[in-house]
Amino acid sequence: MSKRIAGPEIERLIQLLAKVPGLGPRSARRAALHLIKKKEQLLAPLADAMGEAVEKVRVCTTCGNVDTADPCMICTDPRRDPATIIVVEDVADLWALERAGAMNALYHVLGGTLSPLDGIGPDQLTIKQLVSRIAQGAIREVIIAVNATVEGQTTAHYLTDQLAGFEVKVTRLAHGVPVGGELDYLDEGTLAAALKSRTAF
Ligand SMILES: [Zn+2]
Repeated sequence: MSKRIAGPEIERLIQLLAKVPGLGPRSARRAALHLIKKKEQLLAPLADAMGEAVEKVRVCTTCGNVDTADPCMICTDPRRDPATIIVVEDVADLWALERAGAMNALYHVLGGTLSPLDGIGPDQLTIKQLVSRIAQGAIREVIIAVNATVEGQTTAHYLTDQLAGFEVKVTRLAHGVPVGGELDYLDEGTLAAALKSRTAF
């Protein structure tokens, strides 16, 4: 145990901050000290914002996104294409795709990937909810945007099977050369996938 340098309230603040992704114990201490020094300008408004988030944040019962409204802002946005759903593993992936800004579609957050060894089967994910959204009949295309990992691809195949009975086009993200990527630096798997999914000029 390292020596305590501050009262229990401050120690607790440091310990909690250290659990935030991207902050280790060292940066947590720096962040805590910064917050304490800027008590009025930063610590108090942050505490307010966090309190409000605790009270208002909820999971969208339609798509699994997190927001302060249910259905969420994406589900109720009239400018989005209501015939296309992008299926993602996690809300972080939804945010990443939104930052890319390439499509104006609806989403469905699975909450993970199929992983029998970890006890994650179809019932632990929101697959039933996805199928019932498709069954309503308004969706024309389902874009499966899961990670290019073994679990991600297993999940993609499972979803494709589940959606086989519906009049819906099921597509997936292209696998291949990243934008700005040099061929020489790519692994064999990525190069092979890029060759297989080549497109016409
Ligand atoms: Zn939603």
